[in-house]
Amino acid sequence: MAEASYKYIILGGGVAAGYAAREFVKLGLKSGELAIISKEAVAPYERPALSKAYLFPEGAARLPGFHVCVGSGGERQLPEWYFEKGIELILSTEVVKADLSSKTLTSAEGKTFKYEVLIIATGATVIKLSDFGVQGADAKGIHYLREIDEADALIAALKSKKEGSAVVVGGGYIGLELAAVLRINKYKVKMVYPEPWCMPRLFTADIASFYEGYYKGKGVEIVKGTVATGFSTDEEGHVKIVKLKDGRELEADIVIVGVGARPLTRLFKDQLEEEKGGIKTDAFFKTSIPDVYAVGDVATFPMKIYGDVRRVEHVDHARKSAAQAVQAIKAKEEGKSIEAYDYLPFFYSRSFDLSWQFYGDNTGEAIIFGDNNPATPKAKFGSYWIKDGKIVGVFLENGTPEENKAIAKVALVQPVVESTEQLIKEGLAFASKI
Ligand SMILES: Cc1cc2nc3c(=O)[nH]c(=O)nc-3n(C[C@H](O)[C@H](O)[C@H](O)COP(=O)(O)OP(=O)(O)OC[C@H]3O[C@@H](n4cnc5c(N)ncnc54)[C@H](O)[C@@H]3O)c2cc1C
Repeated sequence: MAEASYKYIILGGGVAAGYAAREFVKLGLKSGELAIISKEAVAPYERPALSKAYLFPEGAARLPGFHVCVGSGGERQLPEWYFEKGIELILSTEVVKADLSSKTLTSAEGKTFKYEVLIIATGATVIKLSDFGVQGADAKGIHYLREIDEADALIAALKSKKEGSAVVVGGGYIGLELAAVLRINKYKVKMVYPEPWCMPRLFTADIASFYEGYYKGKGVEIVKGTVATGFSTDEEGHVKIVKLKDGRELEADIVIVGVGARPLTRLFKDQLEEEKGGIKTDAFFKTSIPDVYAVGDVATFPMKIYGDVRRVEHVDHARKSAAQAVQAIKAKEEGKSIEAYDYLPFFYSRSFDLSWQFYGDNTGEAIIFGDNNPATPKAKFGSYWIKDGKIVGVFLENGTPEENKAIAKVALVQPVVESTEQLIKEGLAFASKI
């Protein structure tokens, strides 16, 4: 069987892989030293586009338009870019076995790849309703979204039935973004989730009431406090009805499920230490085995600012952790050292004409400021989270670039709050003083 050897292999061809490749090139890479092995058929791209402009009925984003690193204002790395830099892009290739003791990866076709240094960037995979044994969850017309081929399948479904009915299962950011884009595609949309409000992992009731009100205004029907327990199909096995736990039945031509993701660690089971569901790393993204690094969604790393360890499933961290790992690898080769990863959590989402950013930690007591009335055009509001008398997290809807920069600084500096009432009164103006 064929065998290939590289100094560096990045396993996975998503966001982190693309940004790691850029960092290798920046720091000096010889032709033939680096290979990226990816299950996907396309070069690394900015994954967040898949639930946003990629699904627009008109003027949709398409590759090569959103290959990395355009999402952070960097150069767009077309497949030619990798070729010119002497990086081997091994696409449509799933690695099914990783033997870390012999430094060998094996693909589904039986090809083996040897490395000196491995960067694991396998990301995460969607949690499926069939994982919970939900009856009928394998019916045709039930969609998930992680990779571009799944987005293409969704587009084909939308084209095959114009202005149909969709049920979105899950009230997280993927559910919210997809509900919006389905409405833009003129679908009738119902969202179902068990929690008392959407995005409960980040949003407070006050924040969520704005988005739920806004979505209702856009014609999205929200069904809360219950879950999908089964699906009925037509004679061709295509989904028709979503059965809810509370006994209700919702008609659907399309079902989209966004109930979370699970880090892809299984190739390394019993070979690498894990923590909080991810591959445990240090502040340089080194795993428990020498010369093996893990970055992006798959890594559980020390969060210096909060003195704990976390796994972060957001694009900003995927980009920055990739750069940090490559800098650490290169520094080690040169006998140098670099600073430990010091990450300020940053999440964002966009849907309809809404756009929010969040920085820091959503722990402690939250206060809301500004106008969170969903009927207000271009409403601007936010929240501060206060813990031990200091602001530790800030959320802002509809911020300008300067305002978003200001809230990021607040989350980083963690200013002391003298008076909560004063803070509520000052709102965003407080951030601009920091
Ligand atoms: C639809 C969608 C929208 C999102 N929107 C936002 C957003 O608005 N804001 C935000 O902050 N974050 C968002 N995210 C999260 C963000 O995209 C991820 O955090 C980021 O992509 C993680 O990068 P990664 O490189 O770790 O993983 P990924 O980008 O998922 O890349 C993993 C790659 O590894 C490949 N792979 C996995 N296993 C194997 C194997 N065994 N062999 C070969 N290849 C393999 C996969 O095919 C994939 O190409 C979104 C995610 C999705 C799915």
